[in-house]
Amino acid sequence: MSLRFTYTLTPRTRVSAGRAGSVLNTREIHTVIPGTAVRGALGTAWWSHPTAAFDGHDAERIFDRLFGRQLVVGPAVPFVGDRHAELCGLSEVSCKYPGSECPPGRHDLVARRLDVCPMCGGAIERSRGGWDVDGSWLVDTTRTALKNGAAVDEQLFTRKAMGRQVCYRGRLTVRGADEDELAAELAWLQQRFDISIGGQRSTLGRCGWSLEPAVAPPLPEGNTIVFRLRSPAILIGAFGQPTFDLKGYLGARAGAGDVGATWTRPEQVSGWHGVAGVPKPLEWALATGSTALLSGWARSSLQEVRQGVGLRQREGFGEVELFAVGDLRTWDLASESGEKPGGQKHRSQDRSIASVAPARVSSEAHADPVEELSGLLPAELRVKTLKALRGACRQLMLTVDNGLPAATCIADALNQPWARDLGPDSRNLVARTLKDPDIGDHVARLDTLIGEPG
Ligand SMILES: [Zn+2]
Repeated sequence: MSLRFTYTLTPRTRVSAGRAGSVLNTREIHTVIPGTAVRGALGTAWWSHPTAAFDGHDAERIFDRLFGRQLVVGPAVPFVGDRHAELCGLSEVSCKYPGSECPPGRHDLVARRLDVCPMCGGAIERSRGGWDVDGSWLVDTTRTALKNGAAVDEQLFTRKAMGRQVCYRGRLTVRGADEDELAAELAWLQQRFDISIGGQRSTLGRCGWSLEPAVAPPLPEGNTIVFRLRSPAILIGAFGQPTFDLKGYLGARAGAGDVGATWTRPEQVSGWHGVAGVPKPLEWALATGSTALLSGWARSSLQEVRQGVGLRQREGFGEVELFAVGDLRTWDLASESGEKPGGQKHRSQDRSIASVAPARVSSEAHADPVEELSGLLPAELRVKTLKALRGACRQLMLTVDNGLPAATCIADALNQPWARDLGPDSRNLVARTLKDPDIGDHVARLDTLIGEPG
């Protein structure tokens, strides 16, 4: 069995964990602290913390058992209040040169393939994965290089640091653990003490440590599940060779079902062994945000893959997130039209139609979009467009009935030539119609307007 916890780091000073490969005089920092840095700080505290060092019997044997085999420390993800950094999938895209009409935020290609921005027709930009951290959480700190206590000319270093208001949270698991046997270690881990993370230990990166028991969230429902890496994964193939073939790796696991499309990017990871003071080997890994679509997997296999993948999991590599297809971030183009959020028209299909983007409030939000559209369309396009819209409404109702994401279907409809070539106002009305939970009423109204049953 495994014991699950959530740890929280509350900075006493700014956190600035340096990343290997400094560029010129600006040091890049980890906005997310790798599990290995947190684990290293814990290891240091175990032996040499002035007040909280482990003082039980058999410290060496217990250290080896805990740190060598059982303790898995995931990455520390920043948060401010109830806002967390967002895990960004490599399958996500955004509009490269967004105009005012373009959908805000990101769209996940897992839900629907797109080659261009469906609103402006311009290029879309692939995400590089990783964690999306609010830029306002970062501050610049500047310092000069010192030689014999005096500043060295032209050696000014700017270092990005996270603001003091930013705290961090991560997963900690004690694997294969029997709670009674581990009483001493668990008591040690669950006390509150300060640890030091990152470079410049004396001035930066002092954090308060706290640990709370956690319950695993339920596995997502449905036959098709999205797999995404929360940290880089070091995968090896059947012969121990490094591999970037996520599809092959997942497909070869015991009890695996189908592995559909994957989105991956290789990157190099390294680390610093804080206790020994030596760099850890540079290794190739699949980047955070790498994504795969799993279908037909046994629940037990999903349960297992969720524990993590690949090598060096104890240091936080290969941390996995599973979620339902309905929870993908997608461009809900209908929100452009000013559909009010929530409201009295609440139906079960609302859930999948619900927008991830805040809806804009427009003065004509209450007018009937079908009537308005009908009045706006030129005579030669009117019947043809209303018929196409009726078809799209029916398709959408079927989609929602089958439990598939509505946003995908709406985006599909808007990408059809009949909708794509409309003016922006008409297009917005089409989007509003498709997004309305009372879509059945619109089909009836379209029947009347078209004047013949379809
Ligand atoms: Zn665009």
